[in-house]
Amino acid sequence: MNSYDQLFIDGRWVAPVKGGAFQTINPSNETVIADVAAATAEDIDLAVKAARRAFDEGPWPRMSGAERGAILRKIGKGIRDRLDELATIEVRDNGKPLPEALWDLGDAAGCFEFYADLAEQLDANAEQPVKLADDRFSSVARKEPVGVAGAIIPWNFPMLMAAWKVAPALAAGCTMVLKPSELTPLTSLELADIASKAELPSGVLNVVPGLGPDAGAPLAEHPDIDKLAFTGSVPTGSRVMQAAARDIKNVSLELGGKSPFIVFDDSEIDTAVEWIMFGIFWNQGEVCSATSRVLVQRGLYDRLLARLEEETRKIAIGDGLTEGVLLGPIVSGGQYEKVLAAVERGKAEGARLVTGGARPAHLDSGYFMEPVVFADVPENSWIWREEIFGPVVCIRPFDDEAEAVRSANDSRFGLAAAVMSRDAARCERVAHALRAGIVWINCSQPTFTEAPWGGYKHSGIGRELGEWGLNNYLEIKQITRYDSDKPWGWYIK
Ligand code: ADP
Repeated sequence: MNSYDQLFIDGRWVAPVKGGAFQTINPSNETVIADVAAATAEDIDLAVKAARRAFDEGPWPRMSGAERGAILRKIGKGIRDRLDELATIEVRDNGKPLPEALWDLGDAAGCFEFYADLAEQLDANAEQPVKLADDRFSSVARKEPVGVAGAIIPWNFPMLMAAWKVAPALAAGCTMVLKPSELTPLTSLELADIASKAELPSGVLNVVPGLGPDAGAPLAEHPDIDKLAFTGSVPTGSRVMQAAARDIKNVSLELGGKSPFIVFDDSEIDTAVEWIMFGIFWNQGEVCSATSRVLVQRGLYDRLLARLEEETRKIAIGDGLTEGVLLGPIVSGGQYEKVLAAVERGKAEGARLVTGGARPAHLDSGYFMEPVVFADVPENSWIWREEIFGPVVCIRPFDDEAEAVRSANDSRFGLAAAVMSRDAARCERVAHALRAGIVWINCSQPTFTEAPWGGYKHSGIGRELGEWGLNNYLEIKQITRYDSDKPWGWYIK
């Protein structure tokens, strides 16, 4: 694709009805990458109608799972064939270092391939017999697509978040309207191009970039959407859920987190430092599951902080396309201001700034900041309790297991958590006690397409990925048959 000034609706590239556009900016140098077509309510309506027609009348939900799987596989291959180019687009749009973008894009392709497999398996397991207590009847539970799905996604893993929703929805036989974030719309438009070249039938996937209130809100409110899948912030998620409530839409939400990482003092220090850093500095800390609250047992606390400071200062910061860079810019000027303000707030709240927070001396444009380590963070402070969504880690000491678990669970969020110790039984015990949808033992962040992903409490509703992700887009229909030769005999004896 050379330009991004059109929307993808009903298998065609079309200009927005009102002809609007917005700019997407490269956060490494604050220059405009492209003018992007801006959808408004009129375009959302056209996209939903196209998806509705494709669902009600088109071939997609009526194809076998194997036929759908073949097209999903082609989409996966379409991503792999252009991996380097797409990763470069992602770096320019989002800022992340190139090796991380390559990783994301490979995962996105893998996600289409994984759901291609599940689509194929649906042919054999769409119906499951249900044993009834009354043997005059037989019954099956049958999986069917939910219908037209709307997906609203964030800017931190643009293509991967699209894949997490598009791949299972399409595997299930749903049709979809996808609204990418206005900060990072480019790879979603590329995905439309790839899907169209993979001969996905018209109307099955519609891609409509636009601003949240102008394009996201009309999608959440549209009466012809059966299912709404959202990933983003808690306030927007709550708004989307309220909009969806009017038509009793099926809703799944993947929201924020303030995920704890408990490090016991029998941990090997460099291993702990490495995973703490990966848990919060990977992708600039713009990760919903980032382990941003670290609890370190007192016996290891000072030594670990010293080692963490040393390694954090070594992180190479710069344009994600520069070789060796491990930390790119924050995604946008607005987000940069929010993260800088959070750092100031942390200092004012009495947390000890160990390192970071300043603009690196060698970078005079772009939304760059040195990664931040805060120690002795008060438990009731804003920075300990609220999501910052940037490279800022908050650390506190603890004395014993019970205190660590209590402190870790003392949060309105419950997306992820991590625990590190050489004592396997203790790790197991703590993993069970943590109130979070994802618990990592002796690591933080590795994410697998096969395993369920989602949060407790304010972190969301429902699970993505694995078979759970497919179930998000499936209804269950009971089909029950009267098998007996005997008359029912209620009214007519
Ligand atoms: P952030 O503030 O980090 O950008 P959001 O949760 O606001 O996170 O954004 C996630 C997604 O939600 C984006 O695609 C955004 O455009 C969309 N969005 C924002 N506001 C609304 C809204 N009122 N209704 C629906 N979608 C919205």
